[in-house]
Amino acid sequence: MKKLLLVTAAFVAAVAVLVAVTLPPRRLTLSPRNDGTIPGTFHVHTNRSDGLSGPDEIAAAAARAGLKFVVFTDHGDGMRRPDPPAYRSGVLCLDGVEISTNGGHFIALDMPASPYPLAGEARDVVEDVGRLGGFGVAAHPDSPKPQLRWREWKAPFDGMELLNLDSGWRLWAAQAGGSAGKWRARRHIAAALLDYPFRPAETIAGLIRSGDELPDQWAALAARRRVVALGGVDAHARLDLGGDPADSRFALPLPSYLSSFRVLSIHVRPEIPLSGNAAVDGPIVMRAIRAGHLYMAIDAVAAPPSFELTATNDRGTVREGEELAAGGPVTLRVLSNAPPGFTTTVWSGSNILSPDHHEPDFTVQAPAGPAVYWVEIRATGPPGAAPGAPSLPWIRSNAIYVRSGDGEARLPTRPRAAMSEPIFDGRTAAGWRAEHDPTSLAVVEAAPIVGGAELRFRYGLAGGVSPGRVAALAVATPRGTAPNDRLTLTIRADRPMRIALQLRAGDDQGEAAGERWQRSVYVDTSEQERTIYFDDLMPVGETHTPGPVFAAIRSMLLVVDATNTRPGDSGRIWIKKAELQR
Ligand SMILES: [Zn+2]
Ligand SMILES: [Zn+2]
Repeated sequence: MKKLLLVTAAFVAAVAVLVAVTLPPRRLTLSPRNDGTIPGTFHVHTNRSDGLSGPDEIAAAAARAGLKFVVFTDHGDGMRRPDPPAYRSGVLCLDGVEISTNGGHFIALDMPASPYPLAGEARDVVEDVGRLGGFGVAAHPDSPKPQLRWREWKAPFDGMELLNLDSGWRLWAAQAGGSAGKWRARRHIAAALLDYPFRPAETIAGLIRSGDELPDQWAALAARRRVVALGGVDAHARLDLGGDPADSRFALPLPSYLSSFRVLSIHVRPEIPLSGNAAVDGPIVMRAIRAGHLYMAIDAVAAPPSFELTATNDRGTVREGEELAAGGPVTLRVLSNAPPGFTTTVWSGSNILSPDHHEPDFTVQAPAGPAVYWVEIRATGPPGAAPGAPSLPWIRSNAIYVRSGDGEARLPTRPRAAMSEPIFDGRTAAGWRAEHDPTSLAVVEAAPIVGGAELRFRYGLAGGVSPGRVAALAVATPRGTAPNDRLTLTIRADRPMRIALQLRAGDDQGEAAGERWQRSVYVDTSEQERTIYFDDLMPVGETHTPGPVFAAIRSMLLVVDATNTRPGDSGRIWIKKAELQR
């Protein structure tokens, strides 16, 4: 008995020593200074998807953390109507959605319910969110989990997460680079689990590791167009040790919503003070987020933060998120309540413009001409700390864009088609046929209109959850699609939808028989012309070649499947003109 007591005492003492050695420093408490912003939190999961708690409980936690708004982003396909803005526990709750695409997770805010499931290629989901008027954010582009990580850098998304708390521990867990590095990373995570009960927010902050290349990627994009930088808590109050989010057996209720909210916040600058009426305040906060009138703060390092960034030249003065017309040298002014030990760096794109500032209020001169300016403040420890000592980011601003007159870069447009080969004769459905899985329905026919006919395609996808629901309108291309390089359709549907053009290799193509490549396209209820370029197609499943072998293509299909159509749905599509072009 005595021995057991001794062993227990020794164990407790050992843990106490370990905690004492590894415990991160307590956050610094700063004297408040009103900078005109309100603190809130972005990227929060409720129990409507894989979070632990409901909106009321989460809002109460946010209130305890001193936050004024919460942006919920439950997983979904965009078809659920978002909750209208509402105050809970005095916290403004805004409702968005986190959509899973083939190119990573995408957060959509401030839009109505989508008429069809948003899914498939990332660039298509970005386009759909844009058409619906939403604000789309590339989520955790630094996640080490490939199915989560955003990978579509060419798409015109509106914002991106430069920080994501969920990626932090995953990056540590996935640490590569030799067994020594792995061991150090595991020790770091083990210490964090040990320290968490004592200093939760500080411990989580110690795991923050934004992917090193993210600021450069953001700066490269911002040089061409506006991209709002955001920090997401990605709070679930669940830590999946088993790796499968659907399996809660291995989930710990960690970190709690409250401690996540005490780690990282976004501070938005509303154009007018909030009124207390959610229907009025929701749009005010959303406008500020859309405009990039915000900065990120890691409150677990020091709180409450205060920060302002302005830029002035001959043309005027602007704040972060805004654009300044180029003209004469630029004066950047930074105001903050950073403690003297912290280091403020002014960046121009991915280059340091002015390093090593320790003053609460200073200006930096920048040359005339287009540039993207932003500011980072890091907690570098007290003056005299060892050089190269680990430093934590504390504040990261949004960009001020100095632009020359020609505005944002335009995407190159393709040359017009010089040759067209009609594949619908305008009178009969000859050459066209319907294909479908055994449980779905599809019919194609020529429907008379004044002066001829249009192709009418009727489909009914089978209900239920089993995969493989498909209805397709097919046309044979016995000699391949070459030398044509695109298909142009004049098309409409009885409801807004997204269908896919697929090119399918012939059955005579040996190992490559039946292989398909596809590109999806939006179809509206009003008649519109749509062109799909064949060099833009992506493989469906595994194929022998990355792109289609055009001489081997024997059919083209317009496919309705469960990617963007709900099982059990039926409808009609009309095609007035279909031409292969080059
Ligand atoms: Zn995600
Ligand atoms: Zn998430």
